Amino acid sequence: MVTDEQRRDFTGKVALVTGAGSGIGREAALGFARRGALVYAIDVDDRGLAETLAQSEQLDGSVRTAHVDVSDEAQVAGLLARIESEAGRLDAAFNNAGITGGTHRIEEYPTAEFERVLSVNLKSVFLGMKYELPLMLRSGGGAVVNTASVAAVTGPGGMSAYAASKHGVHGLTRVAAMENASRGIRVNAIAPGWTETPMVVANSRQNPAFAELAKKAIPAKRGAQPSEIADAAIWLCSNEASYLYGHLLVVDGGMTIGG
Ligand code: NAD
Repeated sequence: MVTDEQRRDFTGKVALVTGAGSGIGREAALGFARRGALVYAIDVDDRGLAETLAQSEQLDGSVRTAHVDVSDEAQVAGLLARIESEAGRLDAAFNNAGITGGTHRIEEYPTAEFERVLSVNLKSVFLGMKYELPLMLRSGGGAVVNTASVAAVTGPGGMSAYAASKHGVHGLTRVAAMENASRGIRVNAIAPGWTETPMVVANSRQNPAFAELAKKAIPAKRGAQPSEIADAAIWLCSNEASYLYGHLLVVDGGMTIGG
């Protein structure tokens, strides 16, 4: 009989986490390693990756880092080729790297910035899955989780590029789930709300009144810790979520309950 512990365990499995040099991605990389996985931790921030690696030292699994720009096809293809040659398999992929972009009305939004946000947040998820899915298939199946946002189900003023990219992540997730459900690969997404990653904490310090207002608007009256979002993503990748396909798991302290 398979125990609950075994359904949560990633011993002998290989996981890929992007944006693993900070915030939610770092917590997910450490979380997979705590559960026994060999984790490929990806980012463009080498100092962040070094810190993630340092924090992983006492854990059951292990972490290998790679400097990869998730919006660059050749780099993503090279990464998956490296994982296949070193580890021979891929069981879980958390496509999580992302940027917010500036806050401007649509008529003032710089087009180059719009394209950059779409490239890092959306094209990256397409490229990730394009190269992850064949390796997962060759590994006998697996699970993908893509990071969307509450901005995938709302229209925050001033954030056209971000909201468009995250709505796109939701759409891509559903298509990938549909295309792969019968092939032993589950694809889902998470939609974090206000999450206290280093950038959000720094912004809150600069603008405490806005941060207070935002927290009041969250039914739980607090932002999420990055680990609370990472735990949801790891659970979606685990066998405990074995019948979830194409789902958008909103993890937002109730922020969007009221519509
Ligand atoms: P973060 O800034 O702490 O981490 C994001 C990481 O992605 C950084 O380490 C950054 O270097 C990396 N990254 C950026 N561009 C990259 C690229 N081209 N290639 C590889 N890595 C790149 O932010 P976070 O809050 O942990 O964000 C993780 C994800 O969660 C993002 O997709 C973000 O949109 C989403 N999200 C965050 C919040 C929040 O409140 N923090 C809310 C909703 C969704």
